[in-house]
Amino acid sequence: MREKMKIDLHSHTHHSDGALSPKELVDRAHNMQLDALAITDHDTVAAIDEARSYQQSQKRPLWIIAGVEISTRWHGFDIHVLGLNLNHQDAGLLARLATQSQAREQRAQEMSAKLAKAGIEGIYADAKALAGVGQLTRSHFARALVKRGAVKDHEEAFKKYLGKDKRAFVKPQWPEIPEAISWIREAGGKAVLAHPARYDLSAKWLRRLLVFFAESGGQGMEVTHPQLAPDLKRQLASYAMEYGLEASAGSDFHFPGRWTELGRNLQFDSQLTPVWNDWQRPAA
Ligand code: AMP
Ligand code: MN
Ligand code: MN
Ligand code: MN
Repeated sequence: MREKMKIDLHSHTHHSDGALSPKELVDRAHNMQLDALAITDHDTVAAIDEARSYQQSQKRPLWIIAGVEISTRWHGFDIHVLGLNLNHQDAGLLARLATQSQAREQRAQEMSAKLAKAGIEGIYADAKALAGVGQLTRSHFARALVKRGAVKDHEEAFKKYLGKDKRAFVKPQWPEIPEAISWIREAGGKAVLAHPARYDLSAKWLRRLLVFFAESGGQGMEVTHPQLAPDLKRQLASYAMEYGLEASAGSDFHFPGRWTELGRNLQFDSQLTPVWNDWQRPAA
């Protein structure tokens, strides 16, 4: 891959909790003059074919990298593992993602039952309607709660009901990190630890996570995302060096907003090895 590409390796569509359709995301990537975009919906690869077939009708080039963001569980934390540049048609991967969807359904019904006990009836149906074709996430529950007027905003929905150990929290049935890594690698992808600075881990626990991730076959970690403080950014870069992990960068784009944009502000230390170093762009 040539240097100085504008690249974003973490984004969502309405196939999970993103606001845009795959087409709209591709259009936006063009407007932001991206050269490459990984689509990494939560536990689904449903957007990839749609995005690629739309891209084929476009004049401006854009390399669409097949990806996924897999939810895992580690010491009670929800840890997200990105699978990048994988074969999104891999039968094993698709079977595993189907079990993730089932776990999401199950959790959604249990969350809805807990909300009913708190006096908020029938949220499952509202969340499902908001999710539409997409994977059901807690974001949809948060939006449904806001719409009902049960909370004032997304943040309060998590603080009061959906966040860890809050009133409607249900322990999710996610796989362990090594399982997710093997799903990704068996589908030919690279396993990359998503947003290491967002788990609310102390430095000691973050190091533990990185050691475990690398020992489990993980190949890379996100070393930057928009709004990451410069000292944290330096810290993440030094961890990547120390633990022998390649570097990835993505906006974690969910919707157009004041603070979030595709491909913006994602540069990192040139001493790091980019995850895309050994990727070959397929012939168009
Ligand atoms: P899920 O994967 O269904 O557990 O949903 C997680 C999604 O909810 C994340 O990808 C975020 O987009 C969103 N989310 C998680 N925690 C919060 C929070 N505290 N405030 C706002 N959104 C959150
Ligand atoms: Mn999300
Ligand atoms: Mn995430
Ligand atoms: Mn994400």
